[in-house]
Amino acid sequence: FARLRAGVSRTSNALSDNLTGVLTKRKLDEETLDELEEVLLKADLGFAMADRIRALSKSRHDKGLGADDVRAILAEEVARVLEPVAQPLELDDAAKPHVILVVGVNGTGKTTTIGKLAHLFARNGKSVMLAAGDTFRAAAIDQLKIWGARVGAEVIAKSVGADPAGVAFEALERAQASGTDVLLIDTAGRLHNKGDLMAELAKIVRVLKKLDETAPHTVLLVLDATTGQNALNQVQTFREIAGVTNLVVTKLDGSARGGIVVAIAETFGLPINAVGVGEGIEDFEPFDPHDFAAAIAG
Ligand code: GDP
Repeated sequence: FARLRAGVSRTSNALSDNLTGVLTKRKLDEETLDELEEVLLKADLGFAMADRIRALSKSRHDKGLGADDVRAILAEEVARVLEPVAQPLELDDAAKPHVILVVGVNGTGKTTTIGKLAHLFARNGKSVMLAAGDTFRAAAIDQLKIWGARVGAEVIAKSVGADPAGVAFEALERAQASGTDVLLIDTAGRLHNKGDLMAELAKIVRVLKKLDETAPHTVLLVLDATTGQNALNQVQTFREIAGVTNLVVTKLDGSARGGIVVAIAETFGLPINAVGVGEGIEDFEPFDPHDFAAAIAG
């Protein structure tokens, strides 16, 4: 929890300061309520949430509402929205391996998240294999190899320009042969070429199904919290082109707008498995709705 609280401190500090600024020694009149709503929107909590907090604050105003009461309302509401989506990534034990296709725009933290997840699974006694399916960038392949060495996972990689579906196929074949528990597949995230990316991801899925028709068992979208509202668009797009089933939100430590997690939860209802709170291997937190709500509300 300490790590999560530290990770979202930029969001909670900004929100807390702004809330204090709006609420101290002031009546909750329309003007103050407008300012309150603005503060919540600035933290990227989304319109639906900002509207509800405003309405709830107004309705409790008669009972001598103070700044801390608004904070309590905020924490309650955030937890209520996050509860149904905050879930750990469950592995299907019948799947050998459980295949996780990791998708997302370049730079959001896909490779890092794969490394962190691999570390987590390995620590829980699972054997892990990584597939370097982003064959467009040499750096992506190199980075994945570094993470593989760090967490003791075999990395299946080909040279730059190789067919990503070929890498995925070979990796699943090898993982099946060796009885590996989890296969994490990295992919390219060149969203400016949406049609190409869709075809590429579809082909990966098609070849995986030749070896295991239940694969991929998870399509994990990695989102960068610092991109704010863009993250919402990315969920929409990747849900269309890749059938996203689960989410991870990274870089909460680098963002004062961590409220975007709440907007994502409220808009899409997809399970959020974990949040990234730093570049290190341990900077990865299971997503606990109450801890997060408490951290956000300050
Ligand atoms: P990819 O292009 O999607 O594979 O992204 P990378 O995994 O290479 O990450 C891009 C950059 O973001 C790297 O410098 C990572 O160290 C950094 N990064 C990833 N996750 C986090 C996080 O949770 N917090 C912070 N501060 N940096 C992160």
